[in-house]
Amino acid sequence: MNCPHCKDVRLEPKELELGLVAASCSQCGGALLSLMFYRYWLEHYAAKEAAEEQPDSPEPVEAEDTQSALCCPKCTRLMTKFQVGPDTDHRLDLCTTCDEAWLDKGEWRLLKQLDLHGKLPKIFTDAWQRNIRLQRQEQRQNERFRDLLGDEDFERAEAFKQWLNQHPNKIQIRQFLSIEFQ
Ligand SMILES: [Zn+2]
Ligand SMILES: [Zn+2]
Repeated sequence: MNCPHCKDVRLEPKELELGLVAASCSQCGGALLSLMFYRYWLEHYAAKEAAEEQPDSPEPVEAEDTQSALCCPKCTRLMTKFQVGPDTDHRLDLCTTCDEAWLDKGEWRLLKQLDLHGKLPKIFTDAWQRNIRLQRQEQRQNERFRDLLGDEDFERAEAFKQWLNQHPNKIQIRQFLSIEFQ
């Protein structure tokens, strides 16, 4: 099985974490990860490891991200790209037929830093992807209001919104406000 990126380099087994073996490329540093192995690792190793592990350094992780479409090294079908989270442009490639994910160099560390390394199958769900789109939409909306209101007033309005949203009488307060503003 050859690297989908470097084409003529053979993938060799390598441990991403204790108990988690992926087929990795010595040239580009990418790795093909079977979600079946991953699930086994998550069940048997990950919980134990998390208890012992030191938190990862807060320095930014340098990770590659393949922009072009990749073909699955197993079945040669096109892999699908999935957004990782609202605050990163990184995308993971998945072969939905083989249930194999391609991680570019550094992407595993990036997942760990974002605390997403225990959520891999979830990232590949419609719900996860939809949620990212909604969060980005909200971020864009907030930026527009911040431009409109200026930093100080935006922050006041934002703090008020948060206070209101977790208030036990938020319905009554909203009613009161809408009467006031009529
Ligand atoms: Zn490679
Ligand atoms: Zn495949």
